[in-house]
Amino acid sequence: MEITAVRCVRREGTLSGVDNFVQSRVARPLDVYDEFRDQSGFSVGDIGITEGEGGEIQVSSVFLEIETDAGITGLAGPIGETLAFLTLELEELLVGRDPLETEKHWDLMYRREVDGRKGERMMAISTIDCALWDIKGKHYREPVHRLLGGPTRTELPAYASMFLYDTDPTAVRERAADIEERGYSAQKWFFQHGPGSGEEGKRKNIALAEAAREGAGDDHDLMFDCWMSWGRSYALEMVDRLARYDPAWLEEPVSPDIIDSYADVREAADFPIAGGEHEYTRWGFQELLSRNAIDVAQPDTYWAGGVSELDKICTLCSVHDIPVVIHGFSVPTNVQVTAAQSPTVCPQVEYLPRLNAVTQFFFEDPVEPENGTVPVPDDPGMGIRIDDSKVESETELEFGG
Ligand SMILES: [Mg+2]
Repeated sequence: MEITAVRCVRREGTLSGVDNFVQSRVARPLDVYDEFRDQSGFSVGDIGITEGEGGEIQVSSVFLEIETDAGITGLAGPIGETLAFLTLELEELLVGRDPLETEKHWDLMYRREVDGRKGERMMAISTIDCALWDIKGKHYREPVHRLLGGPTRTELPAYASMFLYDTDPTAVRERAADIEERGYSAQKWFFQHGPGSGEEGKRKNIALAEAAREGAGDDHDLMFDCWMSWGRSYALEMVDRLARYDPAWLEEPVSPDIIDSYADVREAADFPIAGGEHEYTRWGFQELLSRNAIDVAQPDTYWAGGVSELDKICTLCSVHDIPVVIHGFSVPTNVQVTAAQSPTVCPQVEYLPRLNAVTQFFFEDPVEPENGTVPVPDDPGMGIRIDDSKVESETELEFGG
C-alpha cells in the first residue's frame, strides 16, 4: 500500500439547539493586561464556529485526509487552517510511502521539523500520525486500541469538563449537581480570574469552587483549571484557600515553561497538580516528570505527537507512577489510546459536553458518555466517519506555492 495524496478539506454545516454557546470566559495568560481581561476570553472563531440566531451555529471544520492506492483513506481532525497548511507541507515526505510504517514516518517528520519540536509543527505531525493510525486500523479491520494491545476494559469512565458554562455560583451549583447525578466520575470547572483581577478575582474564584463543591456533594471528584493564567505566588496563596474544597486536581496553575514553579506549587498543595496539555513529546514529559512538576499528566493526542507518541508518553508516565488523563479535544482518538492502557495508567477520559458537540459535529458516531461512561468502540481504525447528511458545503484547501 502507498500513500497517494494528503488533502485538507473544509466542511461546513449547521448545528442547532445550542443557545448562548459561550456562557463564560476562561482566564488566559494575556489577562495580566487590562485590555485583554475585558475581552470574552474565548473566540468561537478559533474552533470554526459562528453563532447565529435561534440557537443555530455555523460549524466550519477542516479535516486531514490521507489517501492510499488501496482505496483506504485515513481521516483526522478537525484542525485549524494553520495546521492544515503545516500538514500539507509534509505531503512530499509521505507520498509514495507505506502508510503502515507509522514509526518510521513519525521519525522522518520529527527529524525534518527540527524547529517544530513543540507547538504547531508538532501538532501537524500529531494529526498526520493519527490519520496514519486510522489507515492502519482500517487496513487490519481492527480498532486502533486493538493494534495497541487493548482493550483493557469494555467501557471507560468519563469526567465532564465544564468549559464555556456559566460560572455564576447559582448556575454552577445546579449544573454541578446535575453532572453528578448523570453518573460522571468527576467534573472540572474553569477559573475566570488570575493575578490581574486582584482580590475580587480571588473571591470569585473561591466562590466558583465553593458553588461547585456544594452542588456536586462531598463524595464527587472535583477539579479546577487555571489554563496557565496564574503564577507562582498567586497559585501558592490559592492552593491554601482551595484545599477546603478538596480538589481532585488543580490544572495548569502556572506557565508551562516555568517548571520550577510547577514543582513549588505541587510541593505546597495538599492535593494533586495536573499539567501537560501544552507540553509535547516524550522529551517534554520527561522534563515535567523528572522535575516533580505534576501528579497527573495531560498530553493531548492531537498536539503532543499523535497516537505513536502518546503510547510512549504513557509508558514513561507509568515508570514514574503518574496517571495520564489525556486532554479532551479529540475525544474519539483519546478513547482509542486510553482503552489500550492499564486503568492505572489511563484511568478515565475527559469529555467536554459543550465543545465536543462542535468538534464531533460532522461525525456519524460521536463519543457521548452515557451514565458517565464511554463504551470502547469496535469499529475499524479511529472509529470516525463523516456524516454526509450534515455537510452543506465542502472545499479542498490549497495554499499555492
Ligand atoms: Mg486544561
